[in-house]
Amino acid sequence: MSEQEVKNNNKNTKEGNSAAPSNSDSRGSDSRGSDSRGSDSRGSDSRGSGYRGNRDRRNDRRRERKPEPEVIWTPRTRLGTLVQSGSVQSLDTIFQNGWKIKEYEIVNKLLPDIKSFVVHVGVVQKQTDAGESTRFKSVVAVGDENGWFGIGTGKKPQMKNAIDSATQNALLNIIPVKLGCGSWECRCGTNHSIPHRTVGRGGSVKIELIPGPKGLGLVAGETIRNLLALAGVKDVWSKSFGSTSTMPSVANAVYDSIRQLHGMSLQ
Ligand SMILES: [Zn+2]
Repeated sequence: MSEQEVKNNNKNTKEGNSAAPSNSDSRGSDSRGSDSRGSDSRGSDSRGSGYRGNRDRRNDRRRERKPEPEVIWTPRTRLGTLVQSGSVQSLDTIFQNGWKIKEYEIVNKLLPDIKSFVVHVGVVQKQTDAGESTRFKSVVAVGDENGWFGIGTGKKPQMKNAIDSATQNALLNIIPVKLGCGSWECRCGTNHSIPHRTVGRGGSVKIELIPGPKGLGLVAGETIRNLLALAGVKDVWSKSFGSTSTMPSVANAVYDSIRQLHGMSLQ
């Protein structure tokens, strides 16, 4: 039977409901025939069905990808292998040996309940020959609220990806926070504040942190307070200078001031 006839028969099924029962039997078999031949006719005959075919295939592919299984970490560095096997069990060991963390999963594994804080998400645009390209730039801080702190940035076309990328970058930038009690009013010797005064810079922003007595709390603006809490500092006085409404700069200044506690140099 030719395709033309099959089509006619299909038309009959739509139009003629009053057809004889014997006819309907043959129609059933005919329509089945047209289904099997559908793949041939798609490309040549009708654009509509051809497009549908493409969409179906694309949907199938998307459905295959959908159930995201838990990503199993396969280390790509020697340190990663050591951490995964349990030979290296703390970030302190890594820092004492001066090893470089090149996989963010290392930090995730060693500090399982690390927290993150989205400091800033902004839109960056660039002019291209096809219009503008819009991307999201985000700044994320991570910390375990007890002596580990990191800041990272990420730029991606989608906001979620930008935040994920910034979080991973922040995990790679993690540094130990030198906690202590440098307050002459307190002198308790526990790790509720910082051991001495410190100054950090980020952009035009300058932040000064001064040790405070126990029970003081974080005397700082909201962003700085959140960042210091993430780092594990509980009592501190602060002064800030410059355009402190620029969140990325504020975050960088806090990170720098924490780094300065170790006597590390800028950059
Ligand atoms: Zn104290």
